[in-house]
Formats: sequence, C-alpha cells, structure tokens
Amino acid sequence: MRILITGAAGFLGSHLCDRFLREGHEVIGMDNFITGNPQNLAHLAADQNFSFIRHDVSNFIFVPKKVDAVLHFASPASPNPLSPYGYTNLPIQTMKAGALGTLNALGVAKANNARFLLASTSEIYGMPLEHPQKESYFGNVDTIGIRSVYDEAKRFAESLTMAYYRFHGVDTRIVRIFNTYGPRMHLDDGRVVPNFIQQALRKEPLTVYGDGQQTRSFCYVDDLIEGIYRLFLSDEHYPVNIGNPVENTMVELAEEINRLTGNPAGLIYKPDLRVGDDPQRRQPDITRAREILHWEPKVSLEEGLMRTIPYFEQAMKHD
Ligand code: NAD
Ligand code: UDP
Repeated sequence: MRILITGAAGFLGSHLCDRFLREGHEVIGMDNFITGNPQNLAHLAADQNFSFIRHDVSNFIFVPKKVDAVLHFASPASPNPLSPYGYTNLPIQTMKAGALGTLNALGVAKANNARFLLASTSEIYGMPLEHPQKESYFGNVDTIGIRSVYDEAKRFAESLTMAYYRFHGVDTRIVRIFNTYGPRMHLDDGRVVPNFIQQALRKEPLTVYGDGQQTRSFCYVDDLIEGIYRLFLSDEHYPVNIGNPVENTMVELAEEINRLTGNPAGLIYKPDLRVGDDPQRRQPDITRAREILHWEPKVSLEEGLMRTIPYFEQAMKHD
C-alpha cells in the first residue's frame, strides 16, 4: 500500500511510519513541525519507500499519485500550559488541525477511495463521570473549558469521520488513544512522563501538580502501535479504545521514575494550573480491543520506563 501519515514527525507518527515501512508499505510522511521534530524521521532519509512533504494539513492537501490509506495524526497533543507545545498555547492551530485537517485528510481518502484512520483521544470523554471509560460513554466536556480546543476538535473529527463513512462510504477507522509514552517524545512536550524523566535525570524533585492523587493509565508506544496496526487491518468502523488499563496515581508514577533513575530529590507539589480541567481519573475499558482485535498491552510500566529513560538521557545530551 501507499500510505499517507499526517503528523509523521511527531512521537506517534514517526513510530507509525517505522511500523508501516517494516510491513513493506510505501509511506509518505506529512508534517509542518509545529510540535514535531525532524530528528524523529532522520533515520528514514535514505529509505526508498519513504518520502516527506512539509505541509500544514489545515490547508488543502495535495499528494502526487494515488494513495491507498491515510492515517491522520497531525495535531498538537500536550495539555500542559507551561509548555510552548501545549495545545492551550496553540488553540487555533489545534482546532484547525482537528477540524480542517481532518476534513482535508478525509478528502484525500475519499478522492483516492482509500482507507482512513483517525487518531482520536481519551480526551473526548472529558472529565469522565463513568469509570473506566467504555466507547459507549458520551463524555463530559465543557465546550468552553481551556482543554475544549483539543477535546471539541477531536469530537468534531470523530463526527466528521463517521459522516464520511455513512454518507460517502469511506472505509474509516477511529482509534481513541489513552496516555501513551516512549522514545521520541519531545523534550519540551510538557506531558507528565517527559517532564518527570528529565527532572529525575537532572536529580531535581519531580513536579507533581495538585495532590498527585489523580490517575492515568500509561501505555508503552510499541503496544499502542500494535493496537493501531490491528485496527487498521480490521473491518471495525466504530471507535476503539487503545490504552493500558493499569491505573496509577501521579505520585506512584513519580516515585517509580525516581526509583528507576536513582533520583534522591523526591517530589515537589505545584499548584494545579488546570484547576477544574484536569481529569481526576482516566482508565480505558479495552474489552472491545480485546474482542475485536485480540489485542492487549504487554509492556509493564517499569519495563516501558526502562526503555524510555535512555532515550531522554541521549536527547538531553544533544539538546
Ligand atoms: P506530537 O506533538 O509528538 O505529534 C503531532 C505531530 O503533528 C507533530 O509532529 C506536529 O508537528 C504535527 N502537526 C500538528 N499540527 C499540524 C498541522 N496543522 N499540519 C501538519 N502537521 C501538524 O504528538 P503525539 O503524541 O505524537 O500525538 C499524535 C496524535 O495522537 C495526535 O493527533 C494526538 O491528538 C493523538 N493522541 C496522542 C496521545 C498520546 O498519549 N501520545 C493520546 C491521545 C491522542
Ligand atoms: N502532571 C504533573 N506534573 C507534570 C506534568 C503533568 O503532575 O510535570 C500531571 C497532570 O496534572 C495530569 C497528569 O500528570 O494530572 C497527566 O498529564 P499529561 O500532561 O501527561 O496529560 P493528560 O493526561 O492530562 O492529557
């Protein structure tokens, strides 16, 4: 297949490029580098099956020759207002990537009679009132909250994808991705795993926001990519949660990272800048992924962190 991957220079996009190339496909990566890093694709420079187009997906997308599939991953993804890459600091770009970008990417799929896969998110569940979150849960999102630029853009993107499936018969898939971490996350990303690992490697206290009792479920990137690949190959048109159901508090995560890095500096509690907007609990129900895709995560948090820490060690040296 000839496959267009938007957001290719980002964390997940670059791993997806690797996976599809390894499976013998031709990949066209597209990115405008707003939160991505050209280094994430540097190892593919000499690959005959890989090409790259620098382009903002909010504008009409032109791809020379026919494509067989489009995977739409372009979007800022970090909620941290302290990071220049945080989507609350890129609000209009985030809404455009989710709305206009999805429209344009679906347009490419329709024009080429190609398969389409949307990167959606657990954020569409907002501040969930149901726990764990099943795909049938409609979510609880404040339309004007600071996270809404991301959440509502992704909700719109899901609706648009279903409209293209139902009305135009485009062969679509929707993956709802829960917190994922691993090598190639940007140093300035601002999400919790990159922040904590870098602080630990600098022997600084880890900055826990609020009381640190809020939970997340962390999926290692290789597990996630496997789940997405299986969804891509399946016939499933309705959203599927992909994530790790093992739930941890932020204090537990911080303590585990300090233990693995031998950081004696402990934790420091910082005011919760996202008051009222930081989901207190988040955990995927992956029953559908288990049943339809025969998928479940295999990499434990400890193992995943041990594979991620050396990446940050190297990246910090070259920063
Ligand atoms: P990332 O910031 O590393 O990658 C996103 C990429 O999209 C970047 O390379 C960025 O430059 C590119 N991009 C953004 N807007 C663009 C535009 N208008 N035109 C072209 N390129 C553009 O983030 P990530 O974690 O790799 O996230 C990738 C996708 O997965 C996003 O759609 C995100 O919403 C989704 N997602 C990620 C997670 C996670 O835990 N990593 C969770 C849920 C959903
Ligand atoms: N967080 C933290 N310290 C940090 C960064 C994040 O305690 O340096 C917390 C944040 O408040 C949230 C959780 O970690 O409760 C996960 O945040 P992240 O930005 O990784 O993504 P989210 O799951 O909120 O989309």
